[in-house]
Amino acid sequence: MRVKGLIFDFGFTLFSFENPSIEKYYDCFNRGLLKSLFILKQEKIIEEKEIDSFIKIFNRKRNTFFKSSIKTKEEFPTTLLFKSVLTALKERGYNIKDENVKEEFIENLAEIYHSCEEEEWKPYKETKFTLESLSKSSYLKIGLISNHPNHKTINNLLKNNEMKHYFDAIVTSAKFGKRKPNPDIFFYTLKKMGLNKDDAKDCMMVGDEAADAVGADRAGMQLILKEREYEFPFEREINLPNLIKIKSIKEVLNYIE
Ligand SMILES: [Mg+2]
Repeated sequence: MRVKGLIFDFGFTLFSFENPSIEKYYDCFNRGLLKSLFILKQEKIIEEKEIDSFIKIFNRKRNTFFKSSIKTKEEFPTTLLFKSVLTALKERGYNIKDENVKEEFIENLAEIYHSCEEEEWKPYKETKFTLESLSKSSYLKIGLISNHPNHKTINNLLKNNEMKHYFDAIVTSAKFGKRKPNPDIFFYTLKKMGLNKDDAKDCMMVGDEAADAVGADRAGMQLILKEREYEFPFEREINLPNLIKIKSIKEVLNYIE
């Protein structure tokens, strides 16, 4: 089969998180939150005495949003998280001065919140070579789907590593609203790549976890499983026929004419 389109997952497929652990993830987010709080205070939107309540509500909502997103396959973007915490504080009678807060400011807050995490994601050493080699094909379309609550973070990482131009479509669950394995995010990405649902059978998804595998299967696409050394907690097993497994991202090149 001549592959018309290749869709990559981001985390642990094209980029790796250095020495991953749950503790390290949480440490990144907590440090990011402190940076965002500094901005909120500096802009006089919240006061020092409101910080503890902000953190408490933020952490509670972050967990609720995260759990719901896993269950419903809908994404709750980080921008929405910040907005809902400010609203919740106001409802509890806190004097939050967010009347003049613009969407752009909230987007900036979300970007800062994810900035510590952003520093930890590094492309695998074969990623650039692989994308560069694939981009030489005149007919192959290249896409990316990431389950991430902040679009800008993924965009920054691709831009700062000079990889953005390789993609015909960059889709995050933050922007689309639904997460993998919902097949809609796959069909939406195909469309953005200039393909349609009927082309799915001639496309391949490259990913490292069940959400990639199940979603690709539902959308009618073949999966290439990038095997990962780090095991996620509560990892779901992937049971699909004709599963192709690779260890290095550059092995993708073997499946493209
Ligand atoms: Mg991944």
